[in-house]
Amino acid sequence: MNFEYFIPTKILFGPGKLNQLSEINLPGKKALIVVSSGKSMKKYGYIDRVISLLKDNNVESVVFDKILPNPIKTHVMEGAAYAKEENCDFVIGLGGGSSIDSAKSIAIMAKNPGDYWDYINGGTGKGKPVDNGALPIVAITTTAGTGTEADPWTVITKEDSNEKIGFGVSDTFPVLSIVDPELMLTVPPKLTAYQGFDALFHATEGYIANIATPISDMYAMKSIELIFKHLPKAVEDGKNIEARTQIALANTLSGLVESTSSCTSEHSMEHALSAYYPELPHGAGLIMLSEAYYTFFADKIPERMIRMAEAAGADVNKLPESEKPMAFVNALKNLQKNCGVDDLKMSDFGIGINKINQIAENARYTMKGLFELDRYTLSFEETVQILEQAYK
Ligand SMILES: [Zn+2]
Repeated sequence: MNFEYFIPTKILFGPGKLNQLSEINLPGKKALIVVSSGKSMKKYGYIDRVISLLKDNNVESVVFDKILPNPIKTHVMEGAAYAKEENCDFVIGLGGGSSIDSAKSIAIMAKNPGDYWDYINGGTGKGKPVDNGALPIVAITTTAGTGTEADPWTVITKEDSNEKIGFGVSDTFPVLSIVDPELMLTVPPKLTAYQGFDALFHATEGYIANIATPISDMYAMKSIELIFKHLPKAVEDGKNIEARTQIALANTLSGLVESTSSCTSEHSMEHALSAYYPELPHGAGLIMLSEAYYTFFADKIPERMIRMAEAAGADVNKLPESEKPMAFVNALKNLQKNCGVDDLKMSDFGIGINKINQIAENARYTMKGLFELDRYTLSFEETVQILEQAYK
């Protein structure tokens, strides 16, 4: 047994925690608040509330509100230029994963020269070291999906070459994360389901990755258990604060899984899908891949599959030995049904079956590293096979 553990993020968790923004020690005097270009942050008053709480704390702020659901490099560069122009000394990501991830990438580019892709490992990235660190990052999450508030990772798409690549360094861990489930009450049912499944797959992939540790296993098992128990309730009644809180916890735990283990090639394949089809929500892409992906791995990693089935609430003891690993896949299918996302089809998002080879190539080129973290190494043909199986 041999592992490192490093998570330097202060997490404030619980309903109402956002109010502490007015009194807690913050890492600077002027914040760049990074939010999405969508309407919800303004509509629900979250931006005004954050600005006013910061003011009470004697912190100035400016807002950068261009972030897309699949965030792009152009906006990272623009946001960083704006942060420099406005002399911001820290960055706040307010919203879902795309805003917080963008805040992390902006925080790097506000302190380092050149282009964001100079620092990216994978694809056409140049893999240069991030010598100057990053501006301190504060994450205020209004969704329960990416776990980005508890990990250093940021996923940005280079739009001209369809490369969607995850990246992170120790400086991109948020210094402070506020996880307030009250901010999640307005997320619509479909998005609640997509994001909840994203959190689930961060936990399951982290559990089956070949770099899992006893600590990441502990976080992953708890996260899987909470999602299977509470996600259908959060989807059915968004105002259920108890279900929202349990799912928020599951999501933060899955972020801790990503900090202590890693995603696997399921995420590489999804990134390739949504790099070509930016309208495809990340969680929806994962849902469509998942049955084929875990079915493929069922007989390759039976013990881990059985543990996940147990965490999902399946009574595996009743099953014959040969059927136990697939109990997790069956539980997964049930959860999809209970959350109303079992009928998602790639073709509905305009994805053509003739694109499968290109998607497999893109996945293996841009996010090659995650293929090395599977306990069984997929060949190109097997990658295509999983994508074809997943295709509807
Ligand atoms: Zn994800």
